[in-house]
Amino acid sequence: MASAFRRKITGILDFGDIVYSYAIADLAIAIAYVVLDKSDPLSAAASVVRGYQELRPLADDEIASLFGLVLLRLCTSVCVAARQQRQRPDDEYLSVSQGPIAATLPALAAIDFDVAEAAFRNARGKTPEETLAARRRVIGPNLSVSYRRPVKIVRGWMQYLYDQAGRQYLDGYNNVPHVGHSHPRVVQAAAEQMLVLNTNTRYLHDRLALFAERLIATLPDPLRVCYFVNSGSEANELALRLARAHTRRRDVVVLDAAYHGNTTTLVDISPYKFNGPGGEGAQPWVHVLPLPDTYRGKFRRDDPRAGEKYAEFARHVRNPGAFIAESAPSVGGQIILPDRYLASVYAIVRAAGGVCIADEVQTAYGRMGTDFYAFEAQRVVPDVVVLGKPIGNGYPLGAVITTREIAASFDNGMEFFSTFGGSTVACAVGLAVLDVVEEERLQSHAREVGDHLLAGLRALPDRHPLVGDVRGSGLFIGVELVRNRETLEPATTEAADIVNALRDRGILIGTDGPFENVLKIRPPMPFTREDADLLVRRLDDVLSS
Ligand code: PMP
Repeated sequence: MASAFRRKITGILDFGDIVYSYAIADLAIAIAYVVLDKSDPLSAAASVVRGYQELRPLADDEIASLFGLVLLRLCTSVCVAARQQRQRPDDEYLSVSQGPIAATLPALAAIDFDVAEAAFRNARGKTPEETLAARRRVIGPNLSVSYRRPVKIVRGWMQYLYDQAGRQYLDGYNNVPHVGHSHPRVVQAAAEQMLVLNTNTRYLHDRLALFAERLIATLPDPLRVCYFVNSGSEANELALRLARAHTRRRDVVVLDAAYHGNTTTLVDISPYKFNGPGGEGAQPWVHVLPLPDTYRGKFRRDDPRAGEKYAEFARHVRNPGAFIAESAPSVGGQIILPDRYLASVYAIVRAAGGVCIADEVQTAYGRMGTDFYAFEAQRVVPDVVVLGKPIGNGYPLGAVITTREIAASFDNGMEFFSTFGGSTVACAVGLAVLDVVEEERLQSHAREVGDHLLAGLRALPDRHPLVGDVRGSGLFIGVELVRNRETLEPATTEAADIVNALRDRGILIGTDGPFENVLKIRPPMPFTREDADLLVRRLDDVLSS
């Protein structure tokens, strides 16, 4: 059982009524009581059938007999209650269901058996293969699916996911559900606000400024002005517009292998895309700096000045408008930047008149353990900070925070408006996520569990030659696989094999990096030491086999 449940009683099973019989009888009994007093008993019944089949598909003959069994159960109840009431007329409990049955049974009995059977057949849950086929028919073909045997997840709880057979998976890499899948505080905040009002920033509501104040309080001076949008892409787009408005320059400096989003301009500044399959190469206004990767790059960990040396490449760019980088490149392969890298690049770019943008979409809100944002470990203060994924815990929410000077340059007469950005619900969700991060002390938790996980993973290279490098900070971890520790030949197919083997063993992680040979471990923050031990043990097993 999930460790989250281990210490408290969550339910009691009564084995008193157990008999050996057809499984469909159970479903029929459940439906018989669900439909009582419902205005549309057949659709209530069909909902139960649909939910049941998410976990256990029904056979044709089970579906064919189901409606009759429901009626039979209710008729039996009427007869049994009548007899028992004659024997024990004072026992009111014997007749608790009889009123609702008397009201509902005639309506049910009026439903044509064939109609009921058809409703139940339509309520059949799809198998993963059927779901995949249905998606392929109607969804753009370059939307990928994870794993060779795709998982059909129907439920999430904290750091666990559950498929339709009820199988539990340990989520080792989804960072969007930062405070946990379906965290009740966040769900409640969203649901309560959604029930009352969800509208846009052109009306006054107190939570807009409140959320901005809370967000700004997590950031250093002079980052004091907020904009809210709906995604990381929208936030990076806005960050570029701010930089361009402020510098009146178009040229952008990026890191190799970076990804910043899915819009036209962001694909243009994402080497991961424009140099990848289907890409058209760099635009003349885009300047790519080498990824400061101290494992396989030009300057390695044994060089104490690697950070400054990588930064020197920025000097070749004339008239930069903006430098944009993840403060710990995740898409580039879970890279921890060498000391003084960002400080040196920022200094060079600023001296040349450019603005420095920190893309913290993957790394914000304590994930790195040491700091609330990854740029802090590099001892810099960006001019623009971009936030996405974790800040809404799955609700589409992005934010851009900048200085008053840059905000003033952007305020050139053209209105900025994002229909859903900063909506009433978005602010309620954003505040709830911040509350949970702080109250559950998730940053120090990430540090403690991350250190433990890193220690476990760092024992692997001794036993497994494939494991070339283990790196990370907090719950932001990469395990780089190589075929040869001298040539560093990337073990790309092996990485895919391992990720798929772990999936079959109930653990979900991914791959990243320019060669897709880095195991990406970036779990929801409630991830525990026990989860870490399990992940290391399973990875060890898979590497051994
Ligand atoms: N920046 C980074 C670093 C990202 O990883 C991503 C998404 N993977 C984005 C921006 C774009 O965010 P979104 O998909 O929410 O538009």
